[in-house]
Amino acid sequence: MTSETSERLDGRTVVDGVDVIGSLSPSRAADFMKCPLLFRFRTVDRLPEPPSPDAVRGTVVHKVLEDLFDLPAGDRTPGRAADLVAPAWAAVLAAEPAVAEMFGAKGPEVSSWLSSCQDSLTRYFRLEDPTRLEPAEREAYVETLLSSKLLLRGFVDRLDIAPTGEIRVVDYKTGKAPGEGFEARAMFQMKFYALVLWRTRGVVPRMLQLIYLGSDEILRYQPDEQDLLATERKVEALWAAIATARQTGDWRPNPSSLCGWCAHRSICPEWGGTPPPLPDARLVEAAEPPGHRRVVAEPVDLPDP
Ligand code: SF4
Repeated sequence: MTSETSERLDGRTVVDGVDVIGSLSPSRAADFMKCPLLFRFRTVDRLPEPPSPDAVRGTVVHKVLEDLFDLPAGDRTPGRAADLVAPAWAAVLAAEPAVAEMFGAKGPEVSSWLSSCQDSLTRYFRLEDPTRLEPAEREAYVETLLSSKLLLRGFVDRLDIAPTGEIRVVDYKTGKAPGEGFEARAMFQMKFYALVLWRTRGVVPRMLQLIYLGSDEILRYQPDEQDLLATERKVEALWAAIATARQTGDWRPNPSSLCGWCAHRSICPEWGGTPPPLPDARLVEAAEPPGHRRVVAEPVDLPDP
C-alpha cells in the first residue's frame, strides 16, 4: 500500500494525515550510535561537510551501477560500465559544482580519481554478473510509519524480487568490508530497510546483501521476524535517546577511531574545540531538507525539545 507523505508549513511531516513524531534514516541512526555529538552537528546544527573524493566516488559508482541496469542485459559489460563513468561524473558535477574544488591543487587529479571509480566497477564485475540480473527496483525510496508515529525512511540501492515473491535487498559499498566483530553494525542498515519493507509489503526479505567493492567481498544475512522486531525495538530506543538529548541539550561526544574522518574535530570538545550554540529549535524544525541523498545530509525530523 502506498502512503501519502506531505510537509506542513511548520516543517513537520504528515503521513496519511497522521502527524509524525519524527523521522529517521539508517545513516542518521548510525551517526547517533557512533557519536551523539556527530549526530547533533549533522542533524541539529546541519553543519556543512566538505565533500571528500571517497564519498563522491561512492556517488559516481552508485550512479553507474544504477544506470547499468537501464541497458539490455547483454550490454551490461565492464566496457559499457566504464563508458558510464564520465556521464555519471558530469551529472554529479551539475548537481553540486562545488565538488570540483576538491581536485587539482587541493586533492587528487581528476583523471586518477576517475580511474579509481573504474577500479571499483572492475571489482563489481568480479562479484556479480549483471547480465543475469533484472532488478525490480533501483534507488528505491522506502518509508514506513511505526505505531509510535516514528517515520523510518531511506533509499535502497537495489531490490531483486524472485518470481516466487522473495526479496533480496542489495546495497553497494565502495569501501572495504568491516573487520571481524563489526559485521553486525554494518548489517544494521540492511535490517532497518528490511523492517521498512516488511511493514510496507508484508514480506520479510529473504536475503540482505552488502557488496563491498573495496575488498571484493559480499556480506549476506538472512533475517527473520524476530530480527526485525529486535531492530524495531532498537530504533525506538535510539529515538528515545535522541529525544532525551534534544530535551537536555546533552549531545555527548564519543571519541573513537572515526574521529580521524570527522569533519567537525575543530569544534569538538574531545579535540579542544567548542561547539557552536544550539540553533533555535523552531528554525531547525522548519529547515528545508537538502536535495541530494549521497553527497549531503539526508532529511530528518527531530523530536520536540
Ligand atoms: S571528533 Fe569524534 S567525538 Fe568529536 S564529534 Fe567527531 S566523531 Fe564525535
